[in-house]
Amino acid sequence: MEYLSTRDRTLRRSAAEAIAMGLSRDGGLFTPASFPKFGVLEAEALCGMPYFRGAAYIMGKFLDDFRPEELEWFSEEAYGGGRFDTPAVAPMRKVDGKTWCLELWHGPTSAFKDMALQMLPRLLTASLKKTGEKKTACILVATSGDTGKAAMEGFADVEQVKILTFYPENGVSEIQKLQMVTQEGRNVGVCAVKGNFDDAQNGVKRIFSDPDIREELAERGYFLSSANSINWGRILPQIVYYISAYCDLLNAKAIKLGEAVNFCVPTGNFGNILAAYYAKRMGLPINRLICASNCNDVLTDFIRTGVYDRNRPFHTTMSPSMDILVSSNLERLLFDMSGGKDELVREYMDQLARTGRYEVTAGMKQRMQEVFWGGFCNEEDTAAAVARMYQNGYLIDPHTAVAAKVLEDYRRETGDRTVSVFVSTASPYKFCDSVLSAIGETPAENSVDRIGQMAEITGVTAPERLAALKSKTPRFSQVTEREKMEDVVLEFLK
Ligand SMILES: *Cc1c(COP(=O)(O)O)cnc(C)c1O
Repeated sequence: MEYLSTRDRTLRRSAAEAIAMGLSRDGGLFTPASFPKFGVLEAEALCGMPYFRGAAYIMGKFLDDFRPEELEWFSEEAYGGGRFDTPAVAPMRKVDGKTWCLELWHGPTSAFKDMALQMLPRLLTASLKKTGEKKTACILVATSGDTGKAAMEGFADVEQVKILTFYPENGVSEIQKLQMVTQEGRNVGVCAVKGNFDDAQNGVKRIFSDPDIREELAERGYFLSSANSINWGRILPQIVYYISAYCDLLNAKAIKLGEAVNFCVPTGNFGNILAAYYAKRMGLPINRLICASNCNDVLTDFIRTGVYDRNRPFHTTMSPSMDILVSSNLERLLFDMSGGKDELVREYMDQLARTGRYEVTAGMKQRMQEVFWGGFCNEEDTAAAVARMYQNGYLIDPHTAVAAKVLEDYRRETGDRTVSVFVSTASPYKFCDSVLSAIGETPAENSVDRIGQMAEITGVTAPERLAALKSKTPRFSQVTEREKMEDVVLEFLK
């Protein structure tokens, strides 16, 4: 199967090339030229398989330059062998008769990023071999908190790869920061940026598109690659759990074969919900995709009006992984909604860069609204949703709470009674401070102590790795001005 750049459809690459490159040279994102079909009968067959086997099967449809045994092997390494704290990998929890929660945080860093970032290193190293690349990949990550840790965990000590993570100095939780600065591995680096997530992300994009740096690094034997969700190898493994969730609903007899369901996804960079959309494009019976935002509600407005406008205040919230004003993966949706019109995507991205705003055609807006519904949740309502769920016996994190609340709003406004799944993207233990406050407790002084405190109060077991942070020593303390990120990269690859 071929992959096209969203900004130039004549630029075609194999899956291995697309994964090795990360971002296309023209700044576009690699997107499959067509969508392999997934029949409901296949769903039935998948229902009996362990997660890793289903993952290899589904990914194989997109990766025809990988052998099936190869994918099974990667998949078993990524999702088997006790890396996840449950054999289900992505278990579903029943909330009420019509509502389920898909828990995506059972991996090593307790956030949903593990679902893709345990797989990406395996796909990437194989892709480097397949494309004959001899240079070392330097992965630059801009993170709003969870990606950096999950990427370093996935890539630590992987051959032919170095990884450098930039995070916004004051834009991540204490626990997230501690997780990153204590990361082990010979090939990892971590640096804080004075600014917000968009500043960090823009810095990384600037470095990627700088021909001088590219040349300098090539001379040193490196090339730049990405583990951000712009990489196709990040999106693909995420398609799998929407299909597995559907199977779980079938297995639980919550739906009949072929019956459509809704997914409500707490959204930042638009990678997770895009994977759900791709699952729908493959034929998975999905009725509505509900895009849930926090008070950084640029996507809510976009879905409702067709106008994307990033010219608005940036809010730091208790769901920091969604504090984003420019959602990179939206570009892939634009490409698809426009029927693959690369010149239109280029035009929108150009307007976005120049003015911070663009408006899609009436046809695109209509097609988008047929599938997507957008809503947002402010801080007060997020805390209230955490408290309400807790009273009903379910401890959730603020990102998940945003989705739970927006799903309620969606149902109230539309009257839709379709079986719905809201997606849980982080363990509540990654955000003890906000969760404790939301359930009416006073968080302990020290952020690491809050983990034990919350376990005691709620009786919910904390993920082992988070509990172990207590005894770790920080390895990284560098902070940089956002204009100086280039220097940090050159220093790291000396
Ligand atoms: C990354 C992240 C999100 C946002 O996912 P996108 O794919 O960027 O939309 C939501 N919640 C958590 C906890 C995350 O780590």
